[in-house]
Amino acid sequence: MELKYKRILLKLSGEALMGNDSFGINTDVLGEISAEIKEIVDLGVEVGIVIGAGNIFRGVRGASQGMDRAAADNMGMLATVINSLALQDTLERCGVVTRVMSAIPMRLVCEPYIRRRATRHLEKGRAVIFAAGTGNPYFTTDSAGVLRALEIDADIIIKATKVDGVYDKDPMLHADAVKYETLTYNDVLSKNLRVMDSAGIALAMEDNKPILVLNMTESGNISRAVCGEKIGSLISC
Ligand code: UDP
Repeated sequence: MELKYKRILLKLSGEALMGNDSFGINTDVLGEISAEIKEIVDLGVEVGIVIGAGNIFRGVRGASQGMDRAAADNMGMLATVINSLALQDTLERCGVVTRVMSAIPMRLVCEPYIRRRATRHLEKGRAVIFAAGTGNPYFTTDSAGVLRALEIDADIIIKATKVDGVYDKDPMLHADAVKYETLTYNDVLSKNLRVMDSAGIALAMEDNKPILVLNMTESGNISRAVCGEKIGSLISC
């Protein structure tokens, strides 16, 4: 099968792992996400993954309760490692060879992030899960996703969400919300569309790295996207 995107960076929010639970990791949902990832790995797509930690801990939340922001962000980054190890475990049980590479080295549980090693893993067909965000407080995993996409020269960033693209207003709250098939980075920034944080969008814009926003809860969507089917909303220059 002809692939439109040979190497992708998949950004999953931590909340995607919760399913309908209010906290933590739902193993059924993790299984479904892993099956979607296996599908594209089997097609021959090289897959890098960045996971957030909103299902466990966000630095901003901790800081709003009086914690030191940098300490809270460090906790958030560690929480992404928990999610990354959970995804690795499920992926490997479905037969996908994976490596977790952490921006904060913790050699007893995973590899440290080394760019050239990461690209080597991808070339060998291993899914690489980039854990611990950028390794720096005051950033988010959206920015980490764009950063890693640039570093591994991914063809596209796929941001998997629960809605089927970017709308001019929240489709859950407004029945007349209109979906964008395509939009520019400037549209996202100037209209404050909240698809991804502005630091991540600005970084992608500098390198014109396209971002596809799609609904991951619909089975087969990521495969469709990598094969070139027009789904979701495409953000580019
Ligand atoms: N974080 C950070 N630096 C990074 C990436 C993440 O400090 O480079 C922290 C930050 O506290 C953030 C938390 O990790 O709130 C979890 O990431 P994020 O909020 O992006 O998760 P998501 O919203 O995707 O679930």
